[in-house]
Amino acid sequence: MTKTAQAPNEPVLAIHGGAGTIYRASLTPEKERAYRVALAASLAAGQAVLVGGGTALDAVVAAVVSLEDCPLFNAGRGAVFTSDGRNELDASIMDGATRAAGAIAGVTRVRNPIRAARAVMERSRHVMLIGAGAEAFAEGQGLDMVEPGYFHTPERWAQLEAARASGRVELDHDGASRQAAGSDTKFGTVGAVARDRHGNLAAATSTGGVTNKQWGRVGDSPIIGAGTFADNATVAVSATGLGEAFMRACAAYEVAALVGYKGLSLDAAVTEVATVTVPRYGGKGGLIAVDAHGNVSMRFSTSGMYRGVVRGNGGPELAIH
Ligand code: ASP
Repeated sequence: MTKTAQAPNEPVLAIHGGAGTIYRASLTPEKERAYRVALAASLAAGQAVLVGGGTALDAVVAAVVSLEDCPLFNAGRGAVFTSDGRNELDASIMDGATRAAGAIAGVTRVRNPIRAARAVMERSRHVMLIGAGAEAFAEGQGLDMVEPGYFHTPERWAQLEAARASGRVELDHDGASRQAAGSDTKFGTVGAVARDRHGNLAAATSTGGVTNKQWGRVGDSPIIGAGTFADNATVAVSATGLGEAFMRACAAYEVAALVGYKGLSLDAAVTEVATVTVPRYGGKGGLIAVDAHGNVSMRFSTSGMYRGVVRGNGGPELAIH
């Protein structure tokens, strides 16, 4: 899916809800509708910010919070479980205007991890906080804290049990895991990229990581340059897929480098990273990106990626396969 901006100052927002094996056959019309409703709600939340003259930063937070609150996705409520049966959440955000960035990893009680990442960016002297320190910081900033059970969903627990039985660490949307769990549900990490009226870019990503991950494992999503990157001079990017490969590929920054140094078009850069660079390091997944001209690219090496884009006051364009 590649889109070009129609008007120079028209704001644009793109989101993803995870890339992976999404069997057409197992996606019932009801389920597909549920995903589409959730994706549209996320786009509407971000779009309201942008058409109201708000910033790209506020828009990506609004879009990601909406997906974190939805149990269909592997972020916030509905996140996947670690091998010891906990939800450890990661998130990051970057402001393309200043390259300010914030990230948190391994939190278990912050309702909306992306808000905590933003608080780290704007209200701490640091870029990344982890675990208990990140939680204490979030609480001190007055963010919504919840009991760990808030994140628990039966579908995710079934996925953990299946992954434990097979001894595998799995992407939440991995087909084998899904089938073994006897469930055809498919969920994913979430992310958003936006360009506002002023031409500023921002990117945000939030995840529960991968099912049956060792406790303490951190993937690409909270790593600036791997799962998230934004710079007005080039692009804003959010990634989803096997974090270890995206980290080794420095995937999000690689898109910016291909555009900035090699002169590739946005879509050529995103396509190369999604289908060549990341697979070289043993992973699959997808990336969404927007540039300062309002071009959008959403590419993946898996069979599907929940995604959507909205421009100005327009209606949402949604796609899965
Ligand atoms: N990138 C995430 C991680 O490895 C997982 C995903 O995108 O589904 O933590």
